[in-house]
Amino acid sequence: MNVHSLRIIESIRSVLGDEIIGLHEPMFFGNEWLYVKDCLDTNYVSSVGKYVDKFEEKLKSFTGAKYAVAVSSGTAALHVALLIAGVRPNDEVLIPGLTFIATANAVSYCSAIPHLIASDQTGLNIDIELLEKYLSEITDLRNDELFNCATGRRISAIVPMHIFGHPVDMHKIIQLAEKYRLIVIEDAAESIGSYIGNKHTGLFGSAGILSFNGNKTITTGGGGAIITNDINFATKAKFLTTTARENHAWDFKHLEIAYNYRMPNINAALGCAQLENLHLIIKMKRELHASYKCVFQDYSEAQVISESDGCTSNYWLQTLRLSEELSAIKEVLLHEINGAGISVRPPWGLINEQPPYFKVPNMEMADTKIAAMSLLNIPSSIKISTNK
Ligand SMILES: *Cc1c(COP(=O)(O)O)cnc(C)c1O
Repeated sequence: MNVHSLRIIESIRSVLGDEIIGLHEPMFFGNEWLYVKDCLDTNYVSSVGKYVDKFEEKLKSFTGAKYAVAVSSGTAALHVALLIAGVRPNDEVLIPGLTFIATANAVSYCSAIPHLIASDQTGLNIDIELLEKYLSEITDLRNDELFNCATGRRISAIVPMHIFGHPVDMHKIIQLAEKYRLIVIEDAAESIGSYIGNKHTGLFGSAGILSFNGNKTITTGGGGAIITNDINFATKAKFLTTTARENHAWDFKHLEIAYNYRMPNINAALGCAQLENLHLIIKMKRELHASYKCVFQDYSEAQVISESDGCTSNYWLQTLRLSEELSAIKEVLLHEINGAGISVRPPWGLINEQPPYFKVPNMEMADTKIAAMSLLNIPSSIKISTNK
């Protein structure tokens, strides 16, 4: 086996022990059974019941958002948020080139076109300086609307994403968005419990979205939420995600074509229990980070990535930055380390490497690709750190 594979395996095992280790597993150690059983006992498993409201209340108090709307997935949350932001068919929407496919798909669901932003040299988040230079070269502001000179299409919004829980600099993005008249919707799917200063990610733009899929920091089985401080945005979000039904005890009157994106009660019940332990979960994930930091500190070939100054990361996925030498043999490392029963994985392929998005407009992606090559996610769930 390659000496570097061995070294990485030894380091991870010294933190996590000898078991088979997954990348990220959900952990249920609170009131999950109680609340889910309550749904079953009372027959409120679906679209009616008390847990959705409770979940939204708890989300508001955790994030500090004035409003929270629970929905069936993070992708659904993003779709509806973009519609409310005013994204129209044939618009372009700026998104990171390095993100999960859902960010691009949500744009497509609006019949709009993703326009890809390069990452900075850390390979983590979008490069705001490069983006600013790029926009100054390829766009034209007319009547307070931004146009792509090459395609003639309107660019209506930007969707920054906080990769693996590490916040992107939202202050700079908001400045840029004001200058270029872009609506900001934050893809905070990975960053519940991550802050810039004291402000929770997702609350810098018009709205933010969270995901509660099974592999995220906390889960509702499947689910998502829109968080915002704007009452009109929240009201519209509730309306559009619940089939645009007029409020009435028995009449079914639907005022426009909308979506069945409501979060079921049974999922919200699970989420309520998860949220009760979120502070503890994040504390433990930060401890896991500190342990990794320690075992990798003398190993210059692979360094653990830490939160940047002024930011707090939830450390959803712990990540190594590999040297050039190790990036070049990443396939070997992936093969050997996974083969040894430790789940490690590369970040997603770039969006313009996915067949539906081969031809979308994009910034130069060569450096983003190199930076992404240096990233390796390592086991990150706290279940494993408690078993130590
Ligand atoms: C998980 C994720 C989503 C979508 O969430 P789902 O709940 O799985 O639909 C969107 N964007 C990013 C960056 C994600 O990681």
